[in-house]
Amino acid sequence: VIETINPQTEVNQPQDYFPWPDEETHKYKKGHGVIIGGQQMTGATRLGAICARRVGAGLITISAHGAAYMIYRQGEAGNIVSNDDLDTHLNDPRKNAFLIGPGLGIGEKRQLVVEQLLESSKALILDADALTMLKDWQWKERNAETILTPHEGEFSRLFPEITGSKLEKAKAAAKQSNCTVLLKGPDTVIAAPDGRAVINDSGTPWLATAGSGDSLSGICLGLFAQGLDGFKAASLASWLHGRCAEAFQEGLIAEDIGDILPSVIKTLK
Ligand code: AMP
Ligand code: MG
Repeated sequence: VIETINPQTEVNQPQDYFPWPDEETHKYKKGHGVIIGGQQMTGATRLGAICARRVGAGLITISAHGAAYMIYRQGEAGNIVSNDDLDTHLNDPRKNAFLIGPGLGIGEKRQLVVEQLLESSKALILDADALTMLKDWQWKERNAETILTPHEGEFSRLFPEITGSKLEKAKAAAKQSNCTVLLKGPDTVIAAPDGRAVINDSGTPWLATAGSGDSLSGICLGLFAQGLDGFKAASLASWLHGRCAEAFQEGLIAEDIGDILPSVIKTLK
């Protein structure tokens, strides 16, 4: 169960957040998420795409260029793979949530892509290498919902001046950046700029495995694309991710998270 730390949190049960599809729905009503495909570790992007689709996103596009493009084309059949430029995706009103970071690598060109996304008015999740490139970003310039998903190392590179307990750190960073901060670890904390905060208590140490965080940011994307606000998307994603590990138990690897998500979602009914 997601524990409420701040009594102002209006609902705190994950089933209250889940975007159940209604009978009349169609895929364009269930959000179109875009993942900027990593050039370095294509598996990270693919794991995220599967998880985003498993939580109900209508469509997920992987944006990729060069050699990585063909790798993604040969991946999971339900992913849309596009080598259009970023402007084309940003100008498509149906593409409503973006994720960048997993498997991305760092460098000047990639930093420009991160900045272009930050300057857009699309809902955005920044994870992994995208966080590393953001040290000097002027957060207040962002004018749309944003989720940052750092682990402790990424957090301290991004907010070196913020100290305190994990909860205090996440809350201070959320306030300073005007973003929802999902600070990962054995005791993940989620804090919103408006002061809402929760500690997620689902999960097992088996989540400490390659691709686990990439699956989490994919779950966030799938929920974000379906219209949850940043805080609800991040809180529910974190809870579902942890419950997947509890349901699978021993031997969990990142590929299992997407496989077991449906049975975890079923428990919310
Ligand atoms: P990353 O560091 O990006 O690979 O993300 C790792 C994911 O696994 C995060 O969601 C963490 O919260 C989770 N995780 C890592 N270690 C543990 C642990 N010992 N117990 C529970 N969850 C963990
Ligand atoms: Mg990670």
